[in-house]
Amino acid sequence: MNKYIDIGINLTNRQFQNDADDVIQNALDADVVQMILTGTSVRNSQESARIAAKYSGVLYATAGIHPHDAKSFDGQSIAQLKALLKMKHVVSVGECGLDFDRDFSPRDKQEQCYKAQLELAIAVQKPLFLHERAAFSRFIAVTNEYLPQLPKAVVHCFTGSLQEAKTYLDKGFYLGFTGAISDVNRFAHLKEVVQYVPLNRLMIETDAPFMLPKNVPKTELTKYHERRNEPAFLPYVAGTIAKLNGVGLDVIAKHSTENARAFFEL
Ligand SMILES: [Zn+2]
Repeated sequence: MNKYIDIGINLTNRQFQNDADDVIQNALDADVVQMILTGTSVRNSQESARIAAKYSGVLYATAGIHPHDAKSFDGQSIAQLKALLKMKHVVSVGECGLDFDRDFSPRDKQEQCYKAQLELAIAVQKPLFLHERAAFSRFIAVTNEYLPQLPKAVVHCFTGSLQEAKTYLDKGFYLGFTGAISDVNRFAHLKEVVQYVPLNRLMIETDAPFMLPKNVPKTELTKYHERRNEPAFLPYVAGTIAKLNGVGLDVIAKHSTENARAFFEL
């Protein structure tokens, strides 16, 4: 039986407020055996850690501040994240990084917040869950300053170019893929990226409730939530990778699960 690990779900999102437990059960029924809740702010990381604690061995959490939330970063943030990272089920620092696509936080603030989290990851020696959107060259420049001391890192929801993927892989980073890879119109270039990435460096995620894979049949979508992505749909992400690489679904399930387990020490 194939088993899957979703390395990124936003379970505290409003779209899950009424049925989060059902969403987790549906994922388990779909052989998604472990899930990591993405922390995007101090408060949200605290909430994610609290939920994850209720599902020992199944749910885990990251602790971090998304670049969109960098404006909330203050003198207490790092101590608050550090307290969360003492918990065994809080397995990763992030998501953190730079996002110049929408600039919801000023860029200098984003950099300050990102650097502080890189230093935090070095201090606590837990792997990094990175976010980069439309900020590649600045992101690389900032990250390079810390590279020799950095723990393992995954660039989540990768949608960049093949050249960018190569740069990340050369640094030893992993890449996380979402349902974006099934959007052959918007993300056609991801085909060659997926084909290039070695099987021992890829992980899969839904980034639910966002990034609904195009190949999920309409009949599987939850009533009243026709556009909501769920961790139960993770096998469709694996299915797209398998198809693009011309290998069996079991091959992608096995490698992505092994990678995630070793990376996050689940
Ligand atoms: Zn992200």
